[in-house]
Amino acid sequence: MTARTWRRGEVVALRELWNGRIWKARPCFVVHDRPDQIALYVPYGAPMKLPPGSGIPRSEWELIDAPMHANVLRLATPGAAHSVLLFWDTDGTFDSWRVNLERPLRRTQVGFDYLDQELDIRVCRDRSWELLDEDDFDEARRRGVIDDEAAEEVLAEARRAIDRIERWESPFRDGWERWRPDPEWGVPDLPCGWDRIEAAAPVD
Ligand code: MG
Repeated sequence: MTARTWRRGEVVALRELWNGRIWKARPCFVVHDRPDQIALYVPYGAPMKLPPGSGIPRSEWELIDAPMHANVLRLATPGAAHSVLLFWDTDGTFDSWRVNLERPLRRTQVGFDYLDQELDIRVCRDRSWELLDEDDFDEARRRGVIDDEAAEEVLAEARRAIDRIERWESPFRDGWERWRPDPEWGVPDLPCGWDRIEAAAPVD
């Protein structure tokens, strides 16, 4: 099966997979799906499927319904081991950027799959930054969710991202904080087939 390219306004499932099962799933509007960048938007209140409790993958879990707590735009470079997220409050006020360390997005028949790698970098308008969730990253390493080799890659990717922040490179300088969603989009639901792993297709 060939993985498809998505059109603006289509709703896709952005999922995290762990041990061959769905660990998290969120519905997103596709802002654009280009060879150089994938942009996905999850509005406040979007109905997600999440595991209760700790955000660190474990062996047993059931998914529960949970609404999205902010308006979030995700900018991903295909193949890159991080996305840049932009957070807005419910009233549309821009809050901050977040560099989300993660396994690169993989295309599926319903959207995109990845797995979070716990470590985040929060970036403020004044270009200051701070590492977030280092304790979760350490805990994930202790539990073997992130092995030593993967951890080294995450830390190297974080260093590259910090370099880009300090030079204020794209996408930070691109004005995305002034971006607004299409007013007709509303709140998306997870697309049909979001819960089927066999819907996943290889990237290429
Ligand atoms: Mg994260």
